[in-house]
Amino acid sequence: MLNETWGLVREELIKRVGRNNYVTWIEPLKFSDLRNGVARFEVPTSFFGDWVSRNFSDHIRAQLNTAGQQVERIEFAVANRPAAPVQRPATPAKPAAQPRLRSNGRTGDADEMPGAPLDSRFTFDSFVVGKPNELAHAAARRVAEGGPVTFNPLFLYGGVGLGKTHLMHAIAHELQTRQPHLRVLYLSAEQFMYRFVQALRERQIMDFKEIFRSVDVLMVDDVQFIAGKDSTQEEFFHTFNALVDQNKQIVISADRAPGEIKDLEERIKSRLQCGLVVDLHPTDYELRLGILQQKVELYRTQYSSLAITDGVLEFLAHRITTNVRVLEGALTRLFAFASLVGREITLELAQDCLADILRASDRKLTIEEIQRKVAEHYNIRLSDMIGPKRVRTIARPRQIAMYLAKQLTPRSLPEIGRRFGGRDHTTIMHGVRKIEELMATDSQLNDDLQMLRRLLQG
Ligand code: ADP
Ligand code: MG
Repeated sequence: MLNETWGLVREELIKRVGRNNYVTWIEPLKFSDLRNGVARFEVPTSFFGDWVSRNFSDHIRAQLNTAGQQVERIEFAVANRPAAPVQRPATPAKPAAQPRLRSNGRTGDADEMPGAPLDSRFTFDSFVVGKPNELAHAAARRVAEGGPVTFNPLFLYGGVGLGKTHLMHAIAHELQTRQPHLRVLYLSAEQFMYRFVQALRERQIMDFKEIFRSVDVLMVDDVQFIAGKDSTQEEFFHTFNALVDQNKQIVISADRAPGEIKDLEERIKSRLQCGLVVDLHPTDYELRLGILQQKVELYRTQYSSLAITDGVLEFLAHRITTNVRVLEGALTRLFAFASLVGREITLELAQDCLADILRASDRKLTIEEIQRKVAEHYNIRLSDMIGPKRVRTIARPRQIAMYLAKQLTPRSLPEIGRRFGGRDHTTIMHGVRKIEELMATDSQLNDDLQMLRRLLQG
């Protein structure tokens, strides 16, 4: 009876929270009991429980009530299966002289850690948390505590300049401080390949394997780089498995979700999806403003005499929506320029000095972006967006994307048709009309459209 209700409620929840969230957070929940208005669920880890409680318990409660149960409160308890979260094996302390996080081990000492240098500015303290990155941040924090490995790998993905590298460095810094005995290795996938090729060339492949298999935490940045590079992928796969088998933490970043990296072996994709996959969403206005404010605090110590007029930061946060790197670059330039000419930072100065950046940031929305966002919103594949399937669950989102492409870009119907898998312009026109028709009666559709518009136009 309990399970029957939960079955129904879960169906409903898929619609409320979206398939990705559902699969990650709701499906693993075990409904254990409902008494005196308190529904109890078993969760795999306490982090998991915290997260679900903070983000989804209202939904869950509401749906249980709708299904006829009287629920006032929801509690989560970690399942006490003894084997579940495996304890990190105690690593024997390494002699103090041993290099732990050596920058750039080009000299070829076999025991040297071939990691990349860490940027000392990329810490948790300097990372501004907002809605778009809060899950990634929480997950990174969890890994940085260095406790038992609860998800492996942590896979962070998102567009350029959204803070993936920053978070990875922050994890490394934090681990180094908290647990100096851990061997933490951070490097880019490109460097991984470079080391691998070098080891092949110098016939030191055994050393290479040994080094990579002896770390406690491995972080590989921009893993999309090894797509299509067969022997590097192969080696990466073996390294990855060896570390997972030893229950060592792995953190990976990429510019897109594992399943969407082209020319990446299927077995690697599925391995990467085994842990926690979290994305960094494009920044929103509040996050951008927060980052600018933090930067200005920093600059105040450096350029103590500089004044900045009210409204300048808001202007920048509003206009520069591309990525955080560009945003930071703009502010740096502004301060440097203002200090050179000894002027206050005003709106006019900003417009003058940043004209090129502002021009480049004027949003030119593409049909691809629209397709991607709509596909994400309705949890369908991007390939289905342009593919031939006609089932309603795919055809409707596709028509919505057609409608938005017509509305939000200057493209003609035949051009839009081409981007939708070579469809005829009459098909596009039909799609646009269909949505216009539905808008008159369907309020859910109107809500969706409003939200999509906001997402797309920043
Ligand atoms: P990615 O690796 O995702 O391309 P980075 O981590 O290199 O992006 O970030 C680009 C720049 O933006 C860095 O200087 C980083 O410090 C900064 N940055 C990104 N997100 C944040 C944030 N949330 N708070 C503070 N700085 C950020
Ligand atoms: Mg990066």
